[in-house]
Amino acid sequence: MGQSPKNIAIVGSGLVGSLLGIFLKRHGHTVTVFDRRPDIRTIEFSGRSINLAMSNRGWRTLGKLGLEDEIKQIAIPMYQRAMHVNEKPVYFQKYGKEGEAIWSIGRGILNRKMIDLAESEGVRFQFNEKVWDVNLPEAKLYTGDSEKGVWEEYQFDLIFGCDGAFSRVRHKMQRRSRFDYSQDFIDVGYKELTIPPDKNGNHLLDKNSFHIWPRGRFMLIALPNLDGSFTCTLFLPFEGEISFEQLSTKKEAKSFFETYFPNVRNQIENLIEDFFKNPTSAMVTMKCYPWTYWNKVALVGDSAHAVVPFYGQGMNAGFEDISVLDDLMNELGDDWDSIFSTYQKSRKPNADAIAELSYRNFIEMSSKTADPMFLLQKQIEKRFAAKYPDKWIPVYSRVTFSDRPYSEALKIGDKQEKIMQEVMQIADIKEKWDSKMVEEKILKLMDR
Ligand SMILES: Cc1cc2nc3c(=O)[nH]c(=O)nc-3n(C[C@H](O)[C@H](O)[C@H](O)COP(=O)(O)OP(=O)(O)OC[C@H]3O[C@@H](n4cnc5c(N)ncnc54)[C@H](O)[C@@H]3O)c2cc1C
Repeated sequence: MGQSPKNIAIVGSGLVGSLLGIFLKRHGHTVTVFDRRPDIRTIEFSGRSINLAMSNRGWRTLGKLGLEDEIKQIAIPMYQRAMHVNEKPVYFQKYGKEGEAIWSIGRGILNRKMIDLAESEGVRFQFNEKVWDVNLPEAKLYTGDSEKGVWEEYQFDLIFGCDGAFSRVRHKMQRRSRFDYSQDFIDVGYKELTIPPDKNGNHLLDKNSFHIWPRGRFMLIALPNLDGSFTCTLFLPFEGEISFEQLSTKKEAKSFFETYFPNVRNQIENLIEDFFKNPTSAMVTMKCYPWTYWNKVALVGDSAHAVVPFYGQGMNAGFEDISVLDDLMNELGDDWDSIFSTYQKSRKPNADAIAELSYRNFIEMSSKTADPMFLLQKQIEKRFAAKYPDKWIPVYSRVTFSDRPYSEALKIGDKQEKIMQEVMQIADIKEKWDSKMVEEKILKLMDR
């Protein structure tokens, strides 16, 4: 079903806002995107920005526009995790079935590309224009600086708030009665560091792996960039015995890396300099509801649901929001009331599910990866899944390599966890973990 052209504003030219712009343009609308920041294409960066893992949900949404192959040109497939455990050789864990990968992509590089593509399709961008107020029932936007008395009023038919976890558009919705909102910071922060290319411009570590140095309550990860470098992220508690708080001098930071990351320490470029130069950032889970204000304003992406990054799904979930909106626009035409209400009702349980799964992954990574029984449980599951791929799809694969709802992944994952808990009660499980008996027990519990 076609749609009558509307005059639409998008607040935020991040990954979600710029991609949504292309979709709306293809539905025949006039689209203006506002961003408070300067045009990211005019800002110098080395190409070694934060990188993200793009997986099935993201690719599927880009595929609807025929952009998947073009974006894959600027991404690197990672088929496996490379685990760097102290005093052990690096070992690899495949992510999924043969050929299944998550893709490392620079956030800045992708954002630039997406704005280029949107602009080439006729989306208008107004950078350096901060939205400070929204009139929700009338779909009016106010930009500029109210305090200085220099501001503009714009009238639109519809407004999409794609302005991130600390959204101004949502802030306006929060003032309305019966608007639910919660924000939870975790006690772990992150800092970005870089492993440069070797002297020939090649990657110093395996290029097609997601590298992890797990250390219990903290860890280092590295994702490959196109220029031969890796972007590393150190996740570490803000406070406590081993924490950012304890690393306040160059000597302390040096000794921390010598103790916990001896093999990678020498490869991280300007380690100490970057450690003190680069910011320590916080991570938040943000939930809210409703996501739409009648048929005038809707939140999409992080403005509606920000999650901690431990499942690599924030952007993927935002892209999936857009895909759902696109389906609804095709199906329901000009009935924006139904488009918005169906959109929020269908997406909210899935956003809550990926928030929960992401948080659990954080707990799992920070407190369980050193527990031998937990590792044994994972090993049993892996063995069973390999033997019965139609019966047991691990929750990671359901989230990452499928387009089934996140809420389904959470529900089935919980059921699988219950089964595994019973299996782990078998008296001599440590000896029998790879026996036929254990396999049969799982099959029996699945039938129950
Ligand atoms: C460390 C880390 C790692 C991550 N890794 C992954 C990953 O591997 N895979 C994955 O899928 N996701 C990942 N994410 C999540 C991902 O980065 C976000 O989900 C995604 O960037 C959200 O995009 P967005 O466009 O909704 O919001 P944002 O990227 O936050 O963009 C919001 C835009 O709105 C603009 N804006 C804000 N306020 C205003 C205003 N008042 N007026 C005008 N403009 C405004 C901002 O300038 C910005 O350009 C990670 C996040 C972090 C922090």
